[in-house]
Amino acid sequence: MDELTMGSQEIDGNFRAVQAVLKAAHFAAQKHAGQRRKGAAEEPYINHLLEVAELVASALAEPDTNLIIAALLHDTVEDAGVMKDELVERFGGDVADLVMEVTDDKSLPKAERKRLQIVHASQISGRAQVIKLADKISNLRSILASPPADWSVERKRDYFNWAKQVVNGLSAPNPMLKAEFERLYRQAGSLASS
Ligand code: ZN
Repeated sequence: MDELTMGSQEIDGNFRAVQAVLKAAHFAAQKHAGQRRKGAAEEPYINHLLEVAELVASALAEPDTNLIIAALLHDTVEDAGVMKDELVERFGGDVADLVMEVTDDKSLPKAERKRLQIVHASQISGRAQVIKLADKISNLRSILASPPADWSVERKRDYFNWAKQVVNGLSAPNPMLKAEFERLYRQAGSLASS
């Protein structure tokens, strides 16, 4: 293989990855089209998905396009009624499995779902843990920047502490994301006690 051929194959591979990521972003935007974040600013839900995907992409030491795609799709099953089969068909089994690893069982009561997130934190794969941690970072940032209007200080504090328990449960947290989470948690602590 000469240099020119190698070069063009590399470009093709990179470009295919860009296409796949945009396909997932478009799919997520459509599926969450009517949804907004709970915060007072009522940001479009896609902002959260793009933030999580960007955090994941920035934190990775090795390229992992499927993980970025799964980050974009991480709430489609839980919050937008998408079935796992549809993810398998459109994005492949690896992406669908990653999404299912970070999907709560909505048939359970909320308190039980929250308890299980803490229990499951150490059991999900290292790749799924990257999405889980980025998701919690995005949620903390949202609550700090634009909390839901009806949330008391206590409710915010409960959320921060629960998120911290989930993150503490992760067996292999990405160091860069863990540091960002800790920074936000400290910021949240001074807010909650003021
Ligand atoms: Zn999320």
